Amino acid sequence: MSLSGTVLRFVLPKAVPEPEQLSIAHAGDILPVTFVRSRRARRASLRVDPALRRIVLTAPVRMARATALDFARAQAGWIAARLKRLPTARPFVDGAELPLFGEPHVIRHRTGMRGTVWREGNEIHVAGQPEHLPRRLRDWLTVELRHRLVPLVHEKAARVDRPVKRITLRDSRSRWGSCGPDATLSFSWRLVFAPPEVVDYLAAHEVAHLVHLNHSQRFWALARTLCDGPMDPPQAWLKRNSETLLQYGA
Ligand SMILES: [Zn+2]
Repeated sequence: MSLSGTVLRFVLPKAVPEPEQLSIAHAGDILPVTFVRSRRARRASLRVDPALRRIVLTAPVRMARATALDFARAQAGWIAARLKRLPTARPFVDGAELPLFGEPHVIRHRTGMRGTVWREGNEIHVAGQPEHLPRRLRDWLTVELRHRLVPLVHEKAARVDRPVKRITLRDSRSRWGSCGPDATLSFSWRLVFAPPEVVDYLAAHEVAHLVHLNHSQRFWALARTLCDGPMDPPQAWLKRNSETLLQYGA
């Protein structure tokens, strides 16, 4: 085949990059934003995409990434407010983001692979049939929380010299933790999404109940000493983010 004498000339349009998932830190929270490039855009803009339940940052193809990011960061308050107003549910699906102990991670479904769930950098890979993904991931997350929480609870319980009979992880939507009179502690599996200091605070809180089955001043004083760091920031964090934590995997 010869193309001699023929000059083929065409201009390939400059490729528009794929959408990118950004995480914008704001007031101790992590705000997910989808970053898209547009040929038609003349400036950076933010909009709410209620159908896909996301905030979209659009920028012209030529705009520097840092400039677009700076624009979004400057609007972090607006983004946080709009995210709060989005309808609930952040199901476990391929490509979705979830915080693992406060760090954003992306769920990746791996077809045709054996095995179960594993972590690669900031991705959580889930093998097997797609319909089993939510359950598999949730089981894995529950084990991750257990690995972190159980040693914390035992270490704190040893400090107050009280035995712990059992530690259960539940799907409670009304409370993050509880302590029964029989020294059985329960925690919500969704604490796996919370930053480590929040997990530490909840462990301290429930262990303090092994000594005081109330919320008296003596209880709070003990809980404070059982926390690894200051107690107020994780308490405030929980108040602000309770609803968000309940949305994941719902
Ligand atoms: Zn309590």
